[in-house]
Amino acid sequence: MLSWMRALGLLSTAAVALVFTTPARAAWMDRTEAIMGTRIYVQVWADDPAKGNEAIDAVMADMRRIDDLMSHYKPDSQLSRINQLGNQQPVQVDKELFDLIKLSTYYSQITEGAFDITYASVGYMYDYPKHVHPTEAQIKSALPAVNWRNILFDEAHHTIRFEHPGMRIDLGGIGKGYAVDRGIDILKARGIQHAVVTAGGDTRILGDHLGRPWLVAIRHPDDPNKVVTRIPLSDTAMSTSGDYERYFDEDGVRYHHIIDPHTGHSASKVRSATILAPTATETDGLSKTAFVLGAEKTLEIISKMKDVDAVFITPDGRLLYSDGLRPPTSRP
Ligand code: ADP
Ligand code: MG
Repeated sequence: MLSWMRALGLLSTAAVALVFTTPARAAWMDRTEAIMGTRIYVQVWADDPAKGNEAIDAVMADMRRIDDLMSHYKPDSQLSRINQLGNQQPVQVDKELFDLIKLSTYYSQITEGAFDITYASVGYMYDYPKHVHPTEAQIKSALPAVNWRNILFDEAHHTIRFEHPGMRIDLGGIGKGYAVDRGIDILKARGIQHAVVTAGGDTRILGDHLGRPWLVAIRHPDDPNKVVTRIPLSDTAMSTSGDYERYFDEDGVRYHHIIDPHTGHSASKVRSATILAPTATETDGLSKTAFVLGAEKTLEIISKMKDVDAVFITPDGRLLYSDGLRPPTSRP
């Protein structure tokens, strides 16, 4: 999606190499790393290459820290501990993780349960690279464990407990947006004023592109090289979710990684959903909703929220925009 940014970044890296021999000059610098099972991309406009590099290092280090805390792939993470023990006893966790789990239940509330981190009670039975999906009987027996209301929070002790057997949680639908916001905080604290931080489908832009907005592309669901629209953005976050990210097709059905918590099946009311809002935690928390509730219902929900906009691609290929993005209608 951001390949043009990458091209720009490569150019600026070359420019940085040249200025090393002369007094430090401001330049774009960028780096890509694989963390959180995805591609992390950081680009900054730095007065001084050494400071720029240190700032990027700090963001990458924080992404690794967050992954160690919240990954369900890491058996020693605090999140894995909740999943291992939360059915038997309260599990104490860092305030940061406690707060993000709590915040996840806020997104469940405002999306009528479309966003629900307990989806994992069924979701863990899917293995997309191996083309594995649960049977109807397996879904039926696991589905009662999917319900965010059965996560019990103890505010005083920062403990979490599950009130229903067989429950699991997974932050794959909000952790990357959260990590992007922390990355932007780190850059701001170091005096960076223009930057892009991306983790998988979640991006936040700090400032603008030296006086002009960034132009961010939304890809075609069936063709990664085809752009369906470009949106000018500055000082904004944007998350795109798609049914083409992690999936397999079997007997005409697409099994993909966004799960409808009410049915345990992949949610397919849209093919792609892009949310724009001030922070990436918000955009990530909302980018799954339209798959479950549909574009119209989701537009209704976000129309009540401040500074939130959306672009959806429907199964029949239509592009739907929220009011804030719709071009003004021409007058007769
Ligand atoms: P990315 O990881 O590229 O940012 P998304 O933001 O679209 O992708 O998040 C997809 C992930 O969200 C899934 O891989 C899964 O971990 C998680 N997820 C799937 N369904 C739900 C749901 N109904 N509620 C909350 N999280 C979900
Ligand atoms: Mg995301």
